[in-house]
Amino acid sequence: MKTLFEKIIDREIPAHIIYEDEFCLAFHDIHPQAPTHILLIPKKPIAKLADAQANDQLLLGHLLMTVNKITQDLEIADAFRLVINNGAKAGQTVFHLHLHILSGRPFHWPPG
Ligand code: AMP
Repeated sequence: MKTLFEKIIDREIPAHIIYEDEFCLAFHDIHPQAPTHILLIPKKPIAKLADAQANDQLLLGHLLMTVNKITQDLEIADAFRLVINNGAKAGQTVFHLHLHILSGRPFHWPPG
């Protein structure tokens, strides 16, 4: 069965998509936790970061470089927070790897 994010990739569920290439897709989070809250996902259905394999190394690097591209395009490259929730106990609710890009407000440390 497809996850919610696979349905967004396949355009079965609408999303405000801001970036797409052969390997990944970025769109606005439906419940933003900051003035800017983007989700970046690989098109490959990796359930969570811990499930990534050695042959996903290039893809994972591509995701981080895509964060740089997106944050530069949105002019938030000077201050953003990148979050990956891995596993239900860490707050993951959608089991398709995704990077949260958050910006536009102060962020505290340690995170909640
Ligand atoms: P996580 O809790 O790390 O698994 O993050 C899942 C994120 O997906 C949450 O921030 C949700 O607000 C977001 N989300 C859920 N449904 C949608 C949707 N249809 N479109 C965009 N974002 C969504």
